[in-house]
Amino acid sequence: MRVEVPDDRVGVVVLGAGPGGYTAAFRAADLGLEVVLVERYERLGGVCLNVGCIPSKALLHLAKVVAEAEASAGHGLSFGAAEVDLDGVRAFKDAAVTQLTEGLAGLAKRRKVKVVHGEARFTGPNALDVGGTAIAFDHAIIASGSHASTLPFLPDDARVMDSTGALELPDVPGRLLVIGGGIIGLEMATVYDAMGSQVSIVELADQLIPGCDPDLVKPLAARIAERYAAIHLETSVTAVEAQDDGLHVTFDTRSPSGSGTGGGPDPSVFDRVLVAVGRRPNGADLGADAAGVEVDEWGFIRVDAQQRTNVPHIFAIGDVVGEPMLAHKATHEGVVAAEVISGLDVCFDAKAIPSVAYTDPEIAWTGLTETRARQEGVEYETAAFPWAASGRALANGRPDGTTKLLVDPATRRVLGAGITGTGAGDLIAEAVLALEMGAVAEDIALAVHPHPTLSETLGFAAEVAERTVTDIFLPRRRKT
Ligand code: NAD
Repeated sequence: MRVEVPDDRVGVVVLGAGPGGYTAAFRAADLGLEVVLVERYERLGGVCLNVGCIPSKALLHLAKVVAEAEASAGHGLSFGAAEVDLDGVRAFKDAAVTQLTEGLAGLAKRRKVKVVHGEARFTGPNALDVGGTAIAFDHAIIASGSHASTLPFLPDDARVMDSTGALELPDVPGRLLVIGGGIIGLEMATVYDAMGSQVSIVELADQLIPGCDPDLVKPLAARIAERYAAIHLETSVTAVEAQDDGLHVTFDTRSPSGSGTGGGPDPSVFDRVLVAVGRRPNGADLGADAAGVEVDEWGFIRVDAQQRTNVPHIFAIGDVVGEPMLAHKATHEGVVAAEVISGLDVCFDAKAIPSVAYTDPEIAWTGLTETRARQEGVEYETAAFPWAASGRALANGRPDGTTKLLVDPATRRVLGAGITGTGAGDLIAEAVLALEMGAVAEDIALAVHPHPTLSETLGFAAEVAERTVTDIFLPRRRKT
């Protein structure tokens, strides 16, 4: 198909209307640029708003209500077993999504950002085709996101779901197998466990959420070990066979070298299988070579600190430029790309990008981890405050948490932070600010935290680092 490219160029075309793309488009419009935002789906918001962060948080909110109601039975307050009306649950989740996506459409309109729906493909260095319509541009921002990875041996069967399928909540399966003990797998496990499924998890690595410090994962691992049917670490799935009575799954335990041992858990039958084994970037299907943009073998597009690809007037942001694949990284990169295009001298230079698993308990971490410090030979001290000593955690009936700081022994600068416990995802924001501001541990220790809150645990961890803490007893250091 030959596409006639119009002579009129738009200032900026943004490919993809996820959190990175719509933020870039809106910032560019606010800076006075003419913007076209191209989105293949009917609704704006990308994976995050439509089939990711937001609907999962709506379901996790309900899961939390169930868990708290169950726990309160042991504290003198009983509600009885939860009755789940799946239509009502879906309606609650969909209402949140609809309000946000319609809000985005309204925000685009008010800014005069032109939204074009269809699949965008580059046809030249300054030209795109969107379903037969040509768009010529001065600058482009690629914000095409990522998609769920799959496993080659899975049967084509509706009972095998990815995260999008699982969020549709087709039913509450009696037996659910989650393949992949990363953030997506564990968040969806939290939802289905609360709804009443018997959940099993199979994870290839030797711990859940590989990459997160093991001490932070421990309270979650302990809680779900009691609730879930099984957690198989260092194990892979070797086959899934669809039969009338369920999905027949066989496993293989990995040896330390990574090869299969032929051993492992007995084969089992599940009513549904959720595959959550990571995400792959959407860099390969954009016709990027027509524009001269390099895409690596994985589908990632490399960029510099100003989000520029190898083609100076084409930028890329979000999941398609690399890990971590997180919405809040994408939005900040989107702002940088828009501002650079408008002539501002800025770059993406975040000191800390927080990661959060919205599990029960939540796990959040930012900056340096102990795992990475050891790999890279970075000197550090840890200072941890156990939530069992937090008045608020005890009053909440949830002392299963910990807050720790990593501190530079020489400069006392805060290098990283990790929090496990209810609401950890909100609490980590203070540590992000501390890292961005170059805080030393004493800055956090001397900041007056409101009592009684879980936020105090960060202040107490800093007091542990400074050895000024009074809420726990630290044995005196021996004189040498
Ligand atoms: P992930 O990479 O975080 O986890 C996938 C897990 O699957 C890993 O632990 C991996 O070891 C395991 N795995 C891989 N192959 C396997 C196999 N064959 N058998 C068993 N286990 C296997 O990926 P994810 O959880 O799918 O999430 C994808 C991306 O989306 C991540 O970058 C994540 O950060 C992001 N995300 C973030 C949030 C959040 O911020 N709360 C929520 C959802 C997703």
